[in-house]
Amino acid sequence: MKQSQVQQRNCQKCTRAMVSITLDIDEAKRTLHSCSHCDVRVWEAPGESINLEGVLTELSDSAGR
Ligand SMILES: [Zn+2]
Repeated sequence: MKQSQVQQRNCQKCTRAMVSITLDIDEAKRTLHSCSHCDVRVWEAPGESINLEGVLTELSDSAGR
């Protein structure tokens, strides 16, 4: 039930490793990936994708499967 592993992402712009922060919001885990270099932020939730900014990362990420 627990998803302990947070997927490491790399920024689509500068390819640097993004900083991942997992938060508990409304009993749900939400992970915020952010690139301090480009100021890009991507929200991610287990089982679904919630994108507020930097939506292009999700598209390219799922294309390879
Ligand atoms: Zn970046």
